[in-house]
Amino acid sequence: MAQAGGRGIKLHFQPGNCLQCDEPSCVAACPVGATFKYKDGRVLIDPSICIGCGNCVTGCPYGARYLNPDKHIVDKCDFCQRRLEQGLEPACVVTCPTRARIFGDLNNPLSEISQLLKREKVVRVINQKVDTKPNVFYRKGTAPLTWPVEPTLPGSIHMPLAFWKKK
Ligand code: SF4
Ligand code: SF4
Repeated sequence: MAQAGGRGIKLHFQPGNCLQCDEPSCVAACPVGATFKYKDGRVLIDPSICIGCGNCVTGCPYGARYLNPDKHIVDKCDFCQRRLEQGLEPACVVTCPTRARIFGDLNNPLSEISQLLKREKVVRVINQKVDTKPNVFYRKGTAPLTWPVEPTLPGSIHMPLAFWKKK
């Protein structure tokens, strides 16, 4: 997130992309297994299975998903899958002029992001109703907006009781 100030005006810029949660409610909401936790930690969508029901859109507490009107399936940020396959970083990371975004492997203790998380205090934005354990962190000193939305799941979808936190 970037912050700009001047003559009484403050602007907050906060990317609202998928947070690649460790306990993603979008995965629990999907009735056909089209969205899943990938082995590298990202949450992905298999477009060949998705039926475009939209359950995961309302099930995400961060409003990170949307129905693609052209493809008639759901879509979201996947940290630039095609770029990752070529050994490149996500486009938002390399195009940011102030290098406000740092991307890396949290499972590698030597990665830049792991080192940063060790030495700095970070903030995570947690929904009051459900903690999906997001994997996007904000550096100390930033003030993330509380943009999480109220997630709703279809009644037919079974969720472990422990998954939902009471307010
Ligand atoms: S931010 Fe939303 S879409 Fe992304 S993994 Fe978490 S629950 Fe799923
Ligand atoms: S729209 Fe979401 S919940 Fe529905 S099938 Fe596709 S990935 Fe699953």
